[in-house]
Amino acid sequence: MQNEIALDKIRLRTFPDPILRKRSGEVEVTQQVKEAVKRMAGIMYANNGIGLAAPQIGVNLRMFLVDTGDGLIEFINPTIVPLKSRMTKMEEGCLSVPGVGVEVRRIDKIKVSACDSSGRPFVREFSGLKARAIQHENDHLDGKLIIDYLNPLSRIVVEGKFRRGGKKQKKTCEVACYDGEGRTRRS
Ligand SMILES: [Zn+2]
Repeated sequence: MQNEIALDKIRLRTFPDPILRKRSGEVEVTQQVKEAVKRMAGIMYANNGIGLAAPQIGVNLRMFLVDTGDGLIEFINPTIVPLKSRMTKMEEGCLSVPGVGVEVRRIDKIKVSACDSSGRPFVREFSGLKARAIQHENDHLDGKLIIDYLNPLSRIVVEGKFRRGGKKQKKTCEVACYDGEGRTRRS
């Protein structure tokens, strides 16, 4: 397995870019992968996102980042198992679907197995906003976007606006916004 990453083509991708709809492949950690992760973090922080997934920067590999205000966590080749807990609802934003907020129901607690960009494996449990952000980013690896959680009619309307290019590129945040001072706020 070898990943070829066009580092010069890395930039934030927005719907309807077909890259966002592809299922991403397993990652073999290379120097190039580490460089892509570094750039992904730069783009995430520059846009005040609390997460970012590789397909969003044009790289179809199974990796994403999350930082809800207490440090960056890298997830490479993640596997997520839901833990017995309640479902919670929150309006989420997405840097790849600017200007759109969608209320998404997600499970509150999860267990994640993954490795970091040094290839070190870990297993950790997450809850609350972090668990939500991880599930949102993991959706990106399977080509799933927040608009897929809309009811069918709203989805047709929103997608149509993007396809016609009529949707203003309003500023938005990934899942929720991070204000750089340890606080997160909704997009
Ligand atoms: Zn997103």
